[in-house]
Amino acid sequence: MATAPPSPWDAPPLPFASPHHPDARLRQFLEQASERLCAWLGSAASRSPLPGLSVLPEVEPQRQGLDPGGLLADLQLVMDGAYNPSHPGALAHLDPPPLPASIAADLICAGLNNNLLAEELSPSLSRLERNLAAWLARQLGLGDSCGGVAASGGTLANLMALVTARIHAGLGSCPEAVVVASADAHVSLRKAVTVMGLPPTALRPIPTAADGGMDGALLERELEQLGAAGVPVVAVVATAGTTVRGAVDPLAPVAELCRRHGHWMHVDGAIGAVFALSSRHRHRVAGLELADSVTINPQKLLGITKTSSLLLLRQPRHLERAFGTGLPYMEPSWGGGHGGEWGLQGTRPADILKLWLGLRQLGLDGIEAVLDGAIQRRRMLETLLSSLPELELRGGRCHLLAFTPRGLASEEADRWSQATRQQLLNHQLMLSRPLHGGRHHLKAVLGNPHTTATELEQLQVVVAGSLRDLPRPIQPSVRRSVRR
Ligand SMILES: *Cc1c(COP(=O)(O)O)cnc(C)c1O
Repeated sequence: MATAPPSPWDAPPLPFASPHHPDARLRQFLEQASERLCAWLGSAASRSPLPGLSVLPEVEPQRQGLDPGGLLADLQLVMDGAYNPSHPGALAHLDPPPLPASIAADLICAGLNNNLLAEELSPSLSRLERNLAAWLARQLGLGDSCGGVAASGGTLANLMALVTARIHAGLGSCPEAVVVASADAHVSLRKAVTVMGLPPTALRPIPTAADGGMDGALLERELEQLGAAGVPVVAVVATAGTTVRGAVDPLAPVAELCRRHGHWMHVDGAIGAVFALSSRHRHRVAGLELADSVTINPQKLLGITKTSSLLLLRQPRHLERAFGTGLPYMEPSWGGGHGGEWGLQGTRPADILKLWLGLRQLGLDGIEAVLDGAIQRRRMLETLLSSLPELELRGGRCHLLAFTPRGLASEEADRWSQATRQQLLNHQLMLSRPLHGGRHHLKAVLGNPHTTATELEQLQVVVAGSLRDLPRPIQPSVRRSVRR
């Protein structure tokens, strides 16, 4: 005998917040979660930047849902095993501590649960994104009709830039098209080429000069050869801030070559473009304003919570040509376009909220102070490590500094970097260990505002000790040129 299915109205209430009155359970849950987060952030300096092995809670949902106490206990286990970017010795990557306004905005963003796909799903937030992207693009100098769109990370922003350039150049289905970039350009360009259905050889690497920037003369030669051979070029990608050393390609000369050859110029400014937000630091990325498109990642230095990346364009209408579908199941746009028509992503969170609130919290002075601090720390570390002539330093115009002992074979550099990274970790200093030019380096990213002279001096002492353990004496050779 068939029994009637249970009525949903008789079931215990689901844990959604009441739409009729401020929900006391929600408030208490959020307060308790905030308390745990504040405790976690407030104890950052007493934990290692990189936690040891941690216990994970069960992953599968149980038959009966957990109450807030159980959820928070599980959350705590995950928090205990999390990377700790607020530790003053967290110097390994482009992952700074989060700004409070950005944390709050992320919470509100989740609560609003709007969707940047279409205006009717995010009326105020869609406009906020348009307006803030346009403001950022104007700050970078991209002209009067500039604008852009947020993307979930610089990898996606770079991909969207190259697809847009390709469509603009009429090369949408051309299998011979190539992308020209520095040999030190970010690996995301390799992914972009793959996604665009081009062979790996479609990415044409231009060797770098001594300062780590793309060699302008070699770029000129490559573009002339491509032109003479009739090879179509999607875009020239200049990097403003390379990932290992923070070098900046010669942007103005690259722009001039692009103009001469009629190529799209994309600047991957995932690291360096934020420096154009301050008049004191704009010179580090001079020429950025000549680009057709720019990737900027406020998540990497300004403390905006992840993800915060935008693709900014001189002519944002090109985005719609590349990605517009007409969105047949949405009301027509009334405000200036649906977010989903301006990029590859469909449903998308309002990343713009935490960027907007974070920048408003910093203010222009605060932005400048973040940049100042990062550059000062890089200079200080550079000075400290310069006292060790056995080291080869690789810096640039940003806040990154990589180094490796001179004259080591690649296996020796690998061993040295592993052992030294561990010694540094024993002192609560975390650096990364990138492979660059065939040898492992240690790399410090000086974007953490909690880092003081004490950590940098300690770093120098540990590194100096590591050089004493090296297998053979190293002949100091020529000194590097000094950078601003
Ligand atoms: C980090 C980085 C990217 C990629 O950005 P994600 O947000 O990690 O996807 C692209 N280019 C450069 C130069 C970078 O340093």
